[in-house]
Amino acid sequence: MKTLQHNKEQFVEALLAWYDENARILPWRSLPTPYRVWVSEIMLQQTRVEAVKPYFERFMQAFPTLSSLAEAKDDELVKVWEGLGYYRRVSNMKKCAQQCMEHFHGELPSTYEELLTLAGIGSYTAGAIASIAFRQPVAAVDGNVLRVFSRILISKDDISKEATKKKFHELINEYIPKDRPDAFNQALMEIGAMICVPNSAPRCNICPLAAHCLGYQSGEAHALPIKSGKKKRRIEEKTVVVMVCEDQCYLQKRPEQGLLANLYEFYMFHQFLSKAEVEKHFQEQYEIVQTLSLLDAKHIFSHVEWHMKGFLIEIKPKDQLTGLWVKKQELKDTYALPSAYKVYKEALDIYWRR
Ligand code: SF4
Repeated sequence: MKTLQHNKEQFVEALLAWYDENARILPWRSLPTPYRVWVSEIMLQQTRVEAVKPYFERFMQAFPTLSSLAEAKDDELVKVWEGLGYYRRVSNMKKCAQQCMEHFHGELPSTYEELLTLAGIGSYTAGAIASIAFRQPVAAVDGNVLRVFSRILISKDDISKEATKKKFHELINEYIPKDRPDAFNQALMEIGAMICVPNSAPRCNICPLAAHCLGYQSGEAHALPIKSGKKKRRIEEKTVVVMVCEDQCYLQKRPEQGLLANLYEFYMFHQFLSKAEVEKHFQEQYEIVQTLSLLDAKHIFSHVEWHMKGFLIEIKPKDQLTGLWVKKQELKDTYALPSAYKVYKEALDIYWRR
């Protein structure tokens, strides 16, 4: 790997000067307390800034402190997170808040090493909190930063490898100015999000780092970073059944382990079924008033894809209703449905509006 040693100071200077002029105004930047920085960083994992903004405000209102989060009821927590996806993040946040209450006097610890001991906090998040909230000179290396530095230094190392991430973490630690570690890390993230963007499309013509970027100068930037192919996702076929009885719909809780653990969902078969097969399954227990075919849908998780068919069945009970039946307003206020079921929740809304 070539290094920019002779340009390091100028590079940092150019980066910070650009950031001072161009940093976006974001809700969590205006008051970067450790709690706010942590919440925003967890939300921003795998989620766009624009999508996070309303969630951040809502979360802060519902759980303004670490202690309120540590004591949150799981259903309330998931309801506030509803639609943001990757629900493991929010259950880890509650665990992390409890760890802080128990081991760190009710506060997030200030060092990179201590932060790493907490649930859901990996190297990037620990670096972000330590540098932005506590102004510690430690790198925060995520996919954006790996891409930017791979281009700047013409690194051909595979950025999906842990060894590469570690190497960059150590290398970037040497760039961090002691007086502005918070601005340095945020500036790198900002350059990655706005200028040195992914998919062979860096905007070098307007980049403040071009004069210090070996990838730009050599014409290799567009071919970087090197990232080995991801494993193909497993495809699972599902049939989602939205069961309705007057002004109520049926929900069930998912298993405690695995994908979307402990969250609510509509009734689901783990294979494709025809309308006739679905009706046959329910007709012993219920009188079927009508069955509507819904749109097919697809939801992509990190390792799995759900390909879904859907039906809405309106039923009348032959006996007492059993299981969890919730009213429209309860579904809105209390029960969170993962975004995997978005198409079917919308279909239910339309049905209820008729
Ligand atoms: S000059 Fe181009 S490749 Fe280099 S950091 Fe800027 S946008 Fe990225």
